[in-house]
Amino acid sequence: MRVGTGFDVHAFGPGESVMLGGVRVAHSQGVLAHSDGDVLLHALTDALLGAAGLGDIGEHFRDTDPRWKGADSAGFVTHTLGLLRARGWRVGNADLTLLAERPKVGPHREAIRARIAELLEVPPDAVNVKATTTEKLGFLGRAEGIGAQAVVLLLPAR
Ligand code: MG
Repeated sequence: MRVGTGFDVHAFGPGESVMLGGVRVAHSQGVLAHSDGDVLLHALTDALLGAAGLGDIGEHFRDTDPRWKGADSAGFVTHTLGLLRARGWRVGNADLTLLAERPKVGPHREAIRARIAELLEVPPDAVNVKATTTEKLGFLGRAEGIGAQAVVLLLPAR
């Protein structure tokens, strides 16, 4: 088995919603990003790549590549899953943490969990979605943006 971690941050910018784990969440701002700026899916993609020893999201999905402009980050996850499967891996479980003062993830937690489980082709109980603030400290605490961490375990494919 293999383990990997991922971390991502995006600054808030103009907009009326943010993508969190493949779910659109209404908010007073959007995020600045080349793709759809989904911090949970970006951290998850990096964790998947890390566990498989395949580098990082920037190598696979360059933020200067017009193919990824405004891209649905779900595609990053499914593409990466294909790379893992070709190397004989499947996902055991994933644990994700959103770092944000707002938006609050609570009302959307189960939808996010279900969507990520669908993308990873695992049961919902193999995906955990947590959220924390940084107690008003730092750029996240000042709500200048949002961040996410992810840990995944890979198991040999059956
Ligand atoms: Mg990102």
